[in-house]
Amino acid sequence: MSEIESLKSQLEVLQSKALDAFSQAASLNDLQQLRVHYLGKKGELTEVLKGVGKLPPEERPVIGQFVNRTKQALAEALDLAEAELAVKAKSERIEAERIDVTLPGRSSPRGALHPVQKGLDEMTEIFSQMGFQVAEGPEVEDEFHNFDALNIPPEHPARAMHDTFFIKNAGDQPLLLRTHTSPVQIRAMKRFLEEGHEPPLAVVAPGRVYRCDYDVTHSPMFHQVEVFKVDRNVSMAHLKGVLKHFLSTYFGKEVSIRLRPHYFPFTEPSAEVDIGCVFCSGKGCRICKNSGWIEVLGSGMIHPHVLKSVGIDSDEYSGFAFGLGVERLVMLKQGIPDLRLFFENDVRFLRRMGAM
Ligand SMILES: [Zn+2]
Repeated sequence: MSEIESLKSQLEVLQSKALDAFSQAASLNDLQQLRVHYLGKKGELTEVLKGVGKLPPEERPVIGQFVNRTKQALAEALDLAEAELAVKAKSERIEAERIDVTLPGRSSPRGALHPVQKGLDEMTEIFSQMGFQVAEGPEVEDEFHNFDALNIPPEHPARAMHDTFFIKNAGDQPLLLRTHTSPVQIRAMKRFLEEGHEPPLAVVAPGRVYRCDYDVTHSPMFHQVEVFKVDRNVSMAHLKGVLKHFLSTYFGKEVSIRLRPHYFPFTEPSAEVDIGCVFCSGKGCRICKNSGWIEVLGSGMIHPHVLKSVGIDSDEYSGFAFGLGVERLVMLKQGIPDLRLFFENDVRFLRRMGAM
């Protein structure tokens, strides 16, 4: 076979091999690789064309035309394959991205506030709207703020009743976990005076308190809301008015209340506050032990000793104060039988409460 015949036959073989490969390319990427393989600078075609230089000059134009036809055939086949693959890729993408609008939506889970936190916020908000300003104090207290300043001197029996958690420390003033939110009374009044103000002063102080106690109605950590007001001529009537408004707002219905004489060291006179049973409307049921009344909090007129301990003239000013148990009120409002449910983190309970 002459040199030129051999070249022609090589080109024919190359062309048929290339067209075969192009038509079978599975992706645009594959096709690009084939283009380089056959038509690239170091591709098969270039390799074959190296033979052209060996031909006598008069034969070169003949083979030149043949080469051009081959190149053109390859280019057309590439364009065609590319167009087909592009259409295929597009329809595949459309199929993959198809959205079934008839499927039900997927909702993302939403958390809810813990029922105690919800109650705490609700109660604080009611007092806030009545003009009480919100104050907070430390949970680790000293004996002065937790007891002494509240008219509970060291040998006072009320100290023993508080089941206090003491914290070991090297200083001369023992530290403890506050047993009630009443120390915030002392701190808020002192701060108020230090800032150069004069009463009236009305404060609501929500927070955690601690006592060494655990059963159906007691938890070693629970929440209180402390409320007090100091002004000229504050009386038990103001106390009763604020309590009635608060309890009726919180329970969402007119609640009757009664004050029973009681003893607390930090108030004089002191009263326990009962509400008309919210379950039987006073007729008598299991919850109220057939009395028609439920005890909800302790209250009274701030003891003159307490006012004196922060430097407020008890002849000129008087005040009322009360502290309410947050868990107890939430239990009554939501009909929860056991205090421990709040702290056991049973998700079923929390879900049900969160939805309410
Ligand atoms: Zn009842």
